[in-house]
Amino acid sequence: SSSGNELSNIRRKPVIIIVVGMAGSGKTTLMHRLVCHTHMKNIRGYVMNLDPAVMTLPYAANIDIRDTVKYKEVMKQFNLGPNGGILTSLNLFATKFDEVISVIERRADQLDYVLVDTPGQIEIFTWSASGAIITEAFASTFPTVVAYVVDTPRSEDPTTFMSNMLYACSILYKTRLPLILTFNKVDVAAHQFALEWMEDFEAFQAAASSDHSYTSTLTQSLSLVLDEFYNNLKSVGVSAVSGAGMEAFFKAVEASAEEYMETY
Ligand code: GDP
Ligand code: MG
Repeated sequence: SSSGNELSNIRRKPVIIIVVGMAGSGKTTLMHRLVCHTHMKNIRGYVMNLDPAVMTLPYAANIDIRDTVKYKEVMKQFNLGPNGGILTSLNLFATKFDEVISVIERRADQLDYVLVDTPGQIEIFTWSASGAIITEAFASTFPTVVAYVVDTPRSEDPTTFMSNMLYACSILYKTRLPLILTFNKVDVAAHQFALEWMEDFEAFQAAASSDHSYTSTLTQSLSLVLDEFYNNLKSVGVSAVSGAGMEAFFKAVEASAEEYMETY
């Protein structure tokens, strides 16, 4: 999606921020923190929840999938388990997504950002047809960026770090949208180690080689692949709990939106 004609159809604002990440990485808590930050700074935001199974949200959603699709009833009606229920709910919502886009378009002049929370289980959004439909609907109408939330304390182990980065890498290539590696929970563990590993793959290899369960040749080839991946993205450290890194996050969003306008 990169022809000049298409570009002219894309408005500059609002910027869509799709928040994805492994279950428990802190997406929902971070959404809440970002909403608080926008209120405090008079940034005009809109908030969307795409997790049909969430019980309670710490923030007030302007658009909530749960208002349209009752996940428990979908499970009963189609005789599905929890994951099938979430996926089918998302599919049902995706069929009406043009209406969601129109709602945002009507308010576009009054909005700087739209924050989008996704289902707890990452693959339900990133590897489903409806996730792709929703992402494409956003990206063909507004500048759209992906915030990939990383559980920083849980990624201090090189093996976990690498699999997390490979997952982020697959999302970058699947969506072809600017990606912000958002190292969350820096109140528990600083993300300095991650920056070092991303900057210097030999430092990463040294850390990984002390892990005996690891195949070192595979590690070496993969860290070269990831080296190229790291060159294509931005990274920030944040804490959804303490509020650290909010300014840096929005700066990265702005830069990514610029990149979007130049590329897509
Ligand atoms: P989600 O599944 O990605 O939406 O994750 P949640 O937002 O539900 O958070 C999962 C857990 O991580 C919860 O217990 C949160 O309180 C905790 N959490 C989220 N962000 C942070 C953070 O920045 N620091 C700390 N210490 N805990 C966090
Ligand atoms: Mg959540």
